[in-house]
Amino acid sequence: MKKMGAYSQDTAELTFEDARVPVANLLGEEGKGFYYLMDKLQQERLMCSNGALVVAQEMLQTTMNYVKERHAFGQPISSFQNTQFEIAEMATELTVARTFLDDLSTRHMNGEAIVTEVSMAKWWVTDMARRMSARCLQLHGGYGYMEESDIARRYREVAVMPIYAGSNEIMKNSIARNLGL
Ligand SMILES: Cc1cc2nc3c(=O)[nH]c(=O)nc-3n(C[C@H](O)[C@H](O)[C@H](O)COP(=O)(O)OP(=O)(O)OC[C@H]3O[C@@H](n4cnc5c(N)ncnc54)[C@H](O)[C@@H]3O)c2cc1C
Repeated sequence: MKKMGAYSQDTAELTFEDARVPVANLLGEEGKGFYYLMDKLQQERLMCSNGALVVAQEMLQTTMNYVKERHAFGQPISSFQNTQFEIAEMATELTVARTFLDDLSTRHMNGEAIVTEVSMAKWWVTDMARRMSARCLQLHGGYGYMEESDIARRYREVAVMPIYAGSNEIMKNSIARNLGL
């Protein structure tokens, strides 16, 4: 399928109609496939959140390098207060996300059931990364819109993160349900 980003990751639709699986090839118990899949959702959401965190960190570093190099009106754009506030806010959000995810990763590795917190992380961190991609692109000015810039590629790639691995709306449904609503 032709996508707006993530070109190196092949994406295709798979359809299984009247597929027969020989008994010798059965994994686990018959009829329990979806439960096995559900059992790994916590891990998938955690991986997706950590992926978004790394992309956000890369985008911020790329942008910090750029604003120090790029000059406008005789000074680096990093000297403008708006640029500094943008960077400071993004660095703060990134630190909050990293602290949360480090805690969740440790708890997951200890075998804790943290599906509600992982759903919170999945929607919040991927949404943060998506917002950050637009903010970082803005700080690149017109160059950010050029295909050759790293930030343009990140902007396109990060857009899928709030959609896949369970859309962010579904994460919020799940959180609300687990809160007893
Ligand atoms: C690049 C890419 C890779 C993917 N890789 C995989 C993969 O490896 N394996 C896999 O199984 N799937 C994969 N997917 C599919 C992905 O999981 C789905 O696209 C995603 O779950 C959303 O489903 P949908 O596209 O049918 O959107 P829809 O269900 O049509 O949703 C459209 C919008 O409606 C919202 N919505 C839907 N239902 C509700 C609801 N009940 N309440 C509130 N809002 C709702 C959604 O959140 C979304 O905003 C991939 C998708 C992409 C784009």
